[in-house]
Amino acid sequence: MELLYKSTRGGRTATASEAILKGLSEDGGLFVPERIPALDKTFRELGQMSYAETAYEVMKLFLADFTEEELKSCIAGAYDEKFDTDVIAPLVEAEGVWFLELFHGKTIAFKDMALSILPYLMITAAKKNHVEKEIVILTATSGDTGKAAMAGFADVPGTRIIVFYPKNGVSPIQERQMLTQKGDNVLVVGIHGNFDDAQTGVKRMFSDRALEEELARAGYQFSSANSINIGRLVPQIVYYVYAYCRLLAEGRIGDGEKINVTVPTGNFGNILAAYYAKLMGLPIGKLICASNENRVLFDFFSTGEYDKNREFILTSSPSMDILISSNLERLIYRVSGDDPVKTAQLMQALSEKGSYEITEEMRERLSDFCGGYAQEAECFEKIRSLYEDTGYVIDTHTAVAAAVYDRYREETGDETPAVIASTASPFKFVRSVMTAIDPAYGGADWDDFSLVDELSRIANVPVPAAVEELRNAPVLHDTECEKNGMESVVKRFLGMGD
Ligand SMILES: *Cc1c(COP(=O)(O)O)cnc(C)c1O
Repeated sequence: MELLYKSTRGGRTATASEAILKGLSEDGGLFVPERIPALDKTFRELGQMSYAETAYEVMKLFLADFTEEELKSCIAGAYDEKFDTDVIAPLVEAEGVWFLELFHGKTIAFKDMALSILPYLMITAAKKNHVEKEIVILTATSGDTGKAAMAGFADVPGTRIIVFYPKNGVSPIQERQMLTQKGDNVLVVGIHGNFDDAQTGVKRMFSDRALEEELARAGYQFSSANSINIGRLVPQIVYYVYAYCRLLAEGRIGDGEKINVTVPTGNFGNILAAYYAKLMGLPIGKLICASNENRVLFDFFSTGEYDKNREFILTSSPSMDILISSNLERLIYRVSGDDPVKTAQLMQALSEKGSYEITEEMRERLSDFCGGYAQEAECFEKIRSLYEDTGYVIDTHTAVAAAVYDRYREETGDETPAVIASTASPFKFVRSVMTAIDPAYGGADWDDFSLVDELSRIANVPVPAAVEELRNAPVLHDTECEKNGMESVVKRFLGMGD
């Protein structure tokens, strides 16, 4: 029976391709598969497969209305020489822990893992559903999604992409990556607000029916490349399956042995993918959800109350500076026993008063998860000590996870083999990383590019092409807007007047 998607808030069901095209359900809910399919190959069989082959085995189970040929062609288009390593997602051991490096794509952050395939999935989905209108991808980014989405969608026929980022909330390299993005169908906008403002503005446009009709008359329809899109979530399940099967094939773990997974978390997409992998049958023990000083998820896992009414803190792991973790709604739905009414109530409370509390029964169903958070100083210390002990350099986001994992292990004594999702290249956050290693690098005589060369030297890792290209790339974008000016910017870009 074909797997369909339903909304966490009860709207009508959709096929996988419809869900990918829409991004968000009409009722504001997120699409979830009616059931989580079980893997139909053994881990030993999967352990013999390439990344692309594993991707097919996982994704075919979720994207049921894609033909084998369609899906294989999407996968082949995505996981190719754009990645600087054949294995796509290498595992690196340091201090007895496995770092799953998810940053070998075009923009050197883990968003590439899904955003390199999403345009292919979307174009295929548009064809399957006879969509004639131009697809307008609208995205809010805390820094990494935007660039990865633009890199994926730039000059893809039949699409436009508009990216909103918090003007003062991303790293200089991240901003430069975005502002130098080429492509006639691309617009980048710095908003005077934080990530949540950008995300709220995008969500509002998505659920504005009048705007939808206006767009349709002009020949456009919105879609989302944000991590709420099922076309983002599904490709992220792949690398957990791949990592586990590699560890097994290489004899690092035994048959049936569990692993713990620690994920530096913002919007809750990456860790949710790990949870789905577990529900598919992957032997994962604990899912350790690592937050930075914006510890709303840590508090949620410790108390059962989600409360975004708090100060928004800018940290050196900006892609995790988030107070509304959108994908958590899918977990809430699951632990509510797939109850759309309950989920809608809680989400309404979140939008009206900024908080909600789950029931005791729901809390009990969260036992696969464990929340932790790390302060700035702990992350810097982790980067420094890991480098000193092993020579391996991690970025600031991965450092949050590594610090949280250390504390988890110390407090619980749990020695289960551990995988840490390594979500960005240290080159992307080079200033923070280098000053963590030695405060002298914070001096004014070190500009970002000399720090890049220095990192390459001390870590003995070549400068990634993505950073090399930035050195001389011209800045092509300078659009800014206020929080409430997002819709006008969109209309202007689409030539719709205002
Ligand atoms: C997006 C991002 C995260 C957070 O991932 P979520 O799926 O939003 O939880 C962590 N680290 C980096 C480097 C990112 O770009």
